[in-house]
Amino acid sequence: MTSSTNKPISANQYPTPPFKRQHQAFPGLASEMNPKPDHGEESYQGNGRLDGRKALITGGDSGIGRAVAIAYAREGADVAINYLPDEEQDAAEVVRLIEAEGRKAVAIPGDIRSEEFCQQLVNQANEKLGGLDILVNNAGRQQYNKSIRTLSTEDFDATFKTNVYAMFWITKAALEYLPSGSSIINTSSVQAYEPSAILLDYAQTKAAIAAFTKSLAKQLGEQQIRVNAVAPGPYWTALQVCGGQPPEKIEQFGATAPLSRPGQPAEIAPLYVTLAETANSYTSGQVWCSDGGTGTL
Ligand code: NAD
Ligand code: MG
Repeated sequence: MTSSTNKPISANQYPTPPFKRQHQAFPGLASEMNPKPDHGEESYQGNGRLDGRKALITGGDSGIGRAVAIAYAREGADVAINYLPDEEQDAAEVVRLIEAEGRKAVAIPGDIRSEEFCQQLVNQANEKLGGLDILVNNAGRQQYNKSIRTLSTEDFDATFKTNVYAMFWITKAALEYLPSGSSIINTSSVQAYEPSAILLDYAQTKAAIAAFTKSLAKQLGEQQIRVNAVAPGPYWTALQVCGGQPPEKIEQFGATAPLSRPGQPAEIAPLYVTLAETANSYTSGQVWCSDGGTGTL
């Protein structure tokens, strides 16, 4: 259950470390994780906060993106999701969940490291949804590497293409369609501010996302298009178990957070709802953090 039920969270409501050591090949599936992440499937209750809105969410098949897709549909939005073709199984579940709310679901698989695909993705989402007024740039690549000496140009390039270039290409394409009052939300990370030694390339991209967010918010303010970011701390998602962390770190994942556990994707989706909704129309250029209590940001 999430806090959207308004019942206080109980001490044993969410899984705590130690976790079973586990590894999946990239990009991983939420359905294969142990324990399975909570994306709000059983708990998120909508209240019409995004009635009639039209959202494109990258990485919408699993993890944070899936939790946002479920929340948006339950708040009344039609939703297009992008993901990699290998993630069709996770994506199909999300499509079912969106349609169960009576909302339109559009599934657009493809690799966002291609500028041409990014343009097709936005065009298709706009055409199939009949417009676009929320863009969530959430897809991300995180592959740990212990040394700059072993970090290859190919890896560095793949991380920057997925996390930075794709956000630039998709946002640029979306601006052809986003009307005044639209909201762009990017997924940054606490890594932007407190970079780990083993995430040299990833942490830089997350800092770039925070700067992109603040700069673009200044460009688009006059058009009343808001641009914000969310900076998650440790969240229990496929990204972490398919090369995001060394397997031994997965066993203790989230243990050092003051809340003594990782967050579940359902616990961060409400931030994306708030940043998207019209009621929050004076907030732009912000990076909102949810990291289990460090107070760092
Ligand atoms: P996730 O693995 O469930 O989602 C990431 C998604 O990115 C994948 O599902 C995949 O669809 C997509 N993706 C990756 N490479 C792609 C490509 N080349 N083309 C198209 N799609 C691609 O994991 P998540 O943790 O929910 O990740 C969502 C976002 O949250 C990412 O930007 C990640 O960096 C960020 N984040 C996660 C954490 C965490 O602890 N889980 C912490 C901070 C930030
Ligand atoms: Mg996935």
